[in-house]
Amino acid sequence: MRLVVVGAAGRMGRTLIKAIAENPGCMLSGAVERPGSAAVGQDAGFVAGMASCGVLVTDEPGSAFAEADGVLDFTTPDATAEYSSLAAQVGIVHVVGTTGMEPVHFSKLVRAARTIPVVQSGNMSLGVNILAALVQKVAAILDKEWDIEVLEMHHRMKVDAPSGAALLLGEAAASGRQTILSDHYVAGRDGCTGCRTVGTIGFAALRGGTVVGDHKVVFAGAGERIELSHIAEDRSLFAQGAIKAALWARNREHGLYTMSDVLGLDGL
Ligand code: NAD
Repeated sequence: MRLVVVGAAGRMGRTLIKAIAENPGCMLSGAVERPGSAAVGQDAGFVAGMASCGVLVTDEPGSAFAEADGVLDFTTPDATAEYSSLAAQVGIVHVVGTTGMEPVHFSKLVRAARTIPVVQSGNMSLGVNILAALVQKVAAILDKEWDIEVLEMHHRMKVDAPSGAALLLGEAAASGRQTILSDHYVAGRDGCTGCRTVGTIGFAALRGGTVVGDHKVVFAGAGERIELSHIAEDRSLFAQGAIKAALWARNREHGLYTMSDVLGLDGL
């Protein structure tokens, strides 16, 4: 499968370029960066810290998309919205790992999914998606007297909060309780907040150092707690997940899919 990496010089972009080189089922056909990036014109292999691979980083996505079967996208919400429309025009798979998207961005993915397979997930790792399935089950078992809090920690360069994975876990908890997360969402407590409202799902975000991604979901009851957690030790697991998603989506019908679909976790 010919894959384009957009955001090629980013932390995930470089990790994706390496992961594609190690995966016999796919090849890097294009690498795209934003106009003005120092990486434009450089060999994508060098950008990723490897030997030359013969693919030059470009700031012209149109030609790169035209020669590909899929695009792996870990960029920014605005860029992802644009790339989803472009992928739909060209008719290739769009795998979206970008987080921090608002409804205006998400609506572009929904529109693209009318013609192409789009796989979107706030976390592409097997572990976090299994954790989400477990969180959903536990939330379904426990009543609302058990308070649910989602904690996450990421590296100091992360720009959005809570993380995509924290939101994925919060959605799973809400779905287990048969409610909608946005109706019960509480984040960024500060000052005199008053007592905790029954049934809310709280979020806390820590930032520092080089942490790849730690997540913990706490179910706090009267006199006892259940804690479910995941620690990502290396970003390559997100890259492997994204490649798996692209290969899975390649011959699928158009539609908006999640990693739960890719990993077959729906029945868990
Ligand atoms: P980063 O800032 O290191 O990389 C982003 C790259 O995108 C940069 O190189 C930037 O120049 C480039 N970019 C911005 N606009 C662009 C455009 N219009 N065209 C092409 N390239 C453009 O960030 P990162 O740590 O690699 O993370 C990127 C995104 O992926 C974030 O939203 C992050 O939260 C998310 N992420 C998701 C997962 C997951 O599993 N879903 C895992 C890790 C990171």
